Amino acid sequence: MTTRVYLGDLRYNYSGVLANDCMPLGVAYMKAVMDHEDKGREIESRIFVYAEALLDAIKREPPDVLMLSNYVWNEALSHYCFRAAKAVNPDVLCVMGGPNISIEPHRQLAYLDKYRFVDVYALGEGDFLAHHIVQTFMEGGRTIKGLGRIGLPSSVFRNPEGQAAIDETKPRHKEVEDIPSPFLTGIQDEFFDGKLAPMIETNRGCPFTCTFCVQGTKYYSKIHNFSVDRIKEEITYIARRIKSHSPKMGTLRIADSNYGMYERDIEISGHIGLMQKEYGWPTFIDATTGKNKPERIIKSVEKMGGAMVLYQAVQSLDEDVLRKVKREAIKLEAYKALEVHMRGRGLRSVSDLILGLPGESLKTHLKGLHSLLDSNIHQMHNFQAMMLKGAELESIESRELFKFDTRFRVLPKNYGIYDEEKVFDVEEIIVATDTLPFDDYITCRKWHLTSSVFWNDGWFEQVVRFARHHGIRNSEWWGAMLPAMEGGNAEIRGFLDGFVAETKGELFPTPEAVIEFYSRPENFERLQAGAAGDNLMYRYRAIASFHLWDEICDAAMNATRKLLEERGVHTKVPGFDMFWRDFHAYTRHKHAHGREAAQILAPVKTRLGYDIEGWLASGNLDDPTPFKYPQMTDVVFKLSDHAHRELESALAVWTVHIRSLSKLVTRINVDCQIRQCTAEGVAAKQGSEVTA
Ligand code: SF4
Repeated sequence: MTTRVYLGDLRYNYSGVLANDCMPLGVAYMKAVMDHEDKGREIESRIFVYAEALLDAIKREPPDVLMLSNYVWNEALSHYCFRAAKAVNPDVLCVMGGPNISIEPHRQLAYLDKYRFVDVYALGEGDFLAHHIVQTFMEGGRTIKGLGRIGLPSSVFRNPEGQAAIDETKPRHKEVEDIPSPFLTGIQDEFFDGKLAPMIETNRGCPFTCTFCVQGTKYYSKIHNFSVDRIKEEITYIARRIKSHSPKMGTLRIADSNYGMYERDIEISGHIGLMQKEYGWPTFIDATTGKNKPERIIKSVEKMGGAMVLYQAVQSLDEDVLRKVKREAIKLEAYKALEVHMRGRGLRSVSDLILGLPGESLKTHLKGLHSLLDSNIHQMHNFQAMMLKGAELESIESRELFKFDTRFRVLPKNYGIYDEEKVFDVEEIIVATDTLPFDDYITCRKWHLTSSVFWNDGWFEQVVRFARHHGIRNSEWWGAMLPAMEGGNAEIRGFLDGFVAETKGELFPTPEAVIEFYSRPENFERLQAGAAGDNLMYRYRAIASFHLWDEICDAAMNATRKLLEERGVHTKVPGFDMFWRDFHAYTRHKHAHGREAAQILAPVKTRLGYDIEGWLASGNLDDPTPFKYPQMTDVVFKLSDHAHRELESALAVWTVHIRSLSKLVTRINVDCQIRQCTAEGVAAKQGSEVTA
């Protein structure tokens, strides 16, 4: 008799936008091991990523064992599916696994007491454990009681009396090469569906000990490597399959904690570079780069043709904060070295800061932001500290020590209706600590919006460059943008006020309160329309980038002009008024924007008195006079063929709805939104109006 096992790494697809677009990896490893170890062909296993497909299969061919992952983004969805499976077959063994469970044993036991439909919780890495659990279930006569009698290592399970029990956690399996590749075995083939992005792992574990991260726990401290040959083979396999089955998918995700930090990563990156030449993939690589060994990281990044952005996960620049979160082993000097190298090579860099970590205050946080800005960082991601179950920071001891005040909010796009039941996944974030009052938290969030709109992606890069040339520091320029929004026109103020109101409004005291609120039909409708419960930072960036660009551009240019005038620059630059008007128009039209795809993709024609493009390229930022056209000239702003193709594809996948655009702004190469500028040389009268 075969045992039917369903493995699921579920993601929501209800809103019309995939909440998580990674191919399943953890459950694919489990299936790969099961297929390999199951010599007697007693197990028939299948993987699911879409809940709708799993629920359908549960009804048509109920499984004997249902194994679902538990991440912060899919816990409730997995719970729902367990309940659905138990309703069809009460004897189904429901196994949950994944990092989203407390590290404290008494809370792990309490988990099974609270969720009676979970029979086993597999702790730690599940590749081999999943097969062991199925085998034990079969040995126990395919009953939950039988399994409880035998017991399980590295798991919370129910003893024959139905009480939660916990066994010793075994160390991780050192030889990851023993896990057959889920790509090379064809297990992942069905997930090349044009929506899911391939994700690989070149190693596992992290040598650092950050308390806010699951990988920072002792269990994950050793690094286990997959062989370079296997990784190269996997990448080649993926590149070919992408070309034949999902050619519009440009992304590769690398799940490593510190990609680029090891010598062998350079060779892997070189192989990715070869694939780019041969197959035109990947065009976008999502990876967290290492924290030390900057010279290796730089070599890696350079081998991948600009598809991978340097990702500096600094989290905080304050030594006291870093000590409190046990991150002091990560040297800030390494980041500085990276910045210098990247800047010299004209490569883009991204940093992460987390708001709400122990010891962080408004002052230290702003100091960190200023420091990053003045180091010419290209992009600053500002996250809120999340209470990740499985991380030390989430423990009761840490909560009390740092007086965390937390709130709950629905995870963007992580909701759906399944068989008429509304399901939501919820996250817990820190909104105040003993060093950060709630009001300061809100102030920091306003500054984060300022970074997201005015700094990240370099929409105003040339304007900042001009300002810097005239003695205005990056941080000073950036510091003028929030007041510009606060004192802006009604639309801009509405934009900022809307962000603040939603930032406060999205917070609830308990997970139950989140669910109760969004379950109400009127609120659920707003969720579906993208008017509530979305990733606010991305949504507001998308609004600024596509819908409100003209107003945002006006605010930035007017605030910059004020800063320049304070320094008397307007009196030093000949013909400043007309020059500034043209620079303003140039900045506005370089950026493709609009509310419809056709408008975003269309060229724009305007008339300029200055060859702004030529002037910027010349590097002479003192005097634009040599770049004045003899007469007003028609200038066309148009996306390059490549950018047009990329943006058109992205708009086709993600659509122009604001809830989709908020996803799109995180998925496209920023250069795709930059129009090229060409003078047509059509004569016009000096001083005539800009026509577009
Ligand atoms: S935050 Fe990064 S460096 Fe720190 S433990 Fe986690 S993966 Fe490692």
